[in-house]
Amino acid sequence: MTAAVSPEARAAQRRIVPTVRVSGVLNGEGLGLWREADCGEFKATAAEIGRDLDVLEVPYVIVKAARYPLANSRSQQMRYGEEVRIAGKDLMHLVRWMPSLKESIEQIPDDLPGFGFPVFHPRAEGVAVRGLALAADWPAWTVKQARRARLMCAECDYDLRQRVDEDRAPFVIPLPEKPNWLRLVCGRCCNNGRDEVERLAALAGQPS
Ligand SMILES: [Zn+2]
Repeated sequence: MTAAVSPEARAAQRRIVPTVRVSGVLNGEGLGLWREADCGEFKATAAEIGRDLDVLEVPYVIVKAARYPLANSRSQQMRYGEEVRIAGKDLMHLVRWMPSLKESIEQIPDDLPGFGFPVFHPRAEGVAVRGLALAADWPAWTVKQARRARLMCAECDYDLRQRVDEDRAPFVIPLPEKPNWLRLVCGRCCNNGRDEVERLAALAGQPS
């Protein structure tokens, strides 16, 4: 490292390193730091983390991302927040300030998922693909946590995070009475979304 490091950069480094150590999640696409909305005054917000990364010249984006509802929470809503994400190709800029991160990056298995949780979304016009905005640690959630996040098939309870059975991809199949409530069903339990496309096409008065 060159000698000319500003006191401002040193201060940012002192804040960023423990934050990454405590909250950083590495996956196949990069590093995520999730912050619940209104996380309180004792934790750096996503914007504050971003300001330190600006000082350290580490590229990043801030995106909306959700985590599973807590077991003891009355609300069964997902917990929404923001995630600071650093793409894999930019992690070397962070390693400059945090050399210990290099080893962790080298240990990431090749087949680790990335940030996105892609789901198939039947529409009257056909099936579209969209990504659920989940926090980077979704592959590591326990089965109970994933169930609270509704990542299990609503019909057969298959863990939709597994990508081993091609015929069990996740489809968005809301109950007709709750069209906006996220409900995921595996391809095997929903005829790969075909029935839902037909239902929606009939509602829209279009030939399927
Ligand atoms: Zn199923």
